[in-house]
Amino acid sequence: MQWRSLWWKIKKILKLKIDGPFFNSAFNIIFKRRKLVEHLYFEVIGACQYNCTSCSHEELRFQFRSFQLSIEEIKNFLHFTEKSNYHIHRLEIHGPGEPLLWKGFNDGVKMLKESGRISKIIVITNGLLLKNIKDETWKYIFQLRISLYPMSDILGSIKEKQKKFGRKIKVNKIDQFDRVPEERHENTTPCQCACPGPMFLKDRIILFCGPPGIHAAKLAGVDIINDPEMSEALGVNYLSRLDQNKIGKLKICEYCWANCNIKKEDIPVVSVKPNRVAAANSEVKQVAS
Ligand code: SF4
Ligand code: SF4
Repeated sequence: MQWRSLWWKIKKILKLKIDGPFFNSAFNIIFKRRKLVEHLYFEVIGACQYNCTSCSHEELRFQFRSFQLSIEEIKNFLHFTEKSNYHIHRLEIHGPGEPLLWKGFNDGVKMLKESGRISKIIVITNGLLLKNIKDETWKYIFQLRISLYPMSDILGSIKEKQKKFGRKIKVNKIDQFDRVPEERHENTTPCQCACPGPMFLKDRIILFCGPPGIHAAKLAGVDIINDPEMSEALGVNYLSRLDQNKIGKLKICEYCWANCNIKKEDIPVVSVKPNRVAAANSEVKQVAS
């Protein structure tokens, strides 16, 4: 029997809640000598029902608007994660569009969790399609974070799910967004970054940035998805060049929504204006069918 599945069984029998980075890393160092990856953004779909004003994912959604991560691409990711002997503590599925529009959601989440390479799967959603999560999938999800916008009429369906899966659901009421920068904000680095990478994107790893970095890079005239300094093709040891010291110190940070120094400046917040323009797009109709 594999040590990891034995550990899961012991935890289940004793109802242990031990699942923090300390125990994971201790377990993996002792039994598997795995390399612990604290956090990874995992991008699955470009489409979203909304098209919010000041969506910080907008540029990535635009560039990947027909994208849906395939099961083959997940297998590829898990293959190289295994070959690299990585163990991911927190994997966040958050877009860049709406994860519950992703056709592979139920199979993909199951496959990721059953790989034994991921401790916690966290899903961030606008909550419009909670019905798309199969009951049996909830056991693979550590937490579902719902961004509740003023125009969303979903309290009924949230309450229904909370009755069954209450402690797994977290609701964040969002009335305002920070405005996405449209120009450079000089002398705002080094900064604390509100959305640091690494981020898995189809067959590449963006090393230092989450989705806001794509918009920042575009303003700065840099193609970080293909830039060999900023990203890496998926392969063995795909995170070997990840240097935490570079996060918040890049040139493009001066253009970025996730730069906390820019957030503190006098950039006005804007009201959340979800509109259903995107729902008219064929790719949303297609994935929702
Ligand atoms: S719900 Fe709005 S903020 Fe969230 S990904 Fe869609 S467009 Fe962006
Ligand atoms: S550009 Fe800088 S602030 Fe923006 S996501 Fe990347 S590291 Fe963070």
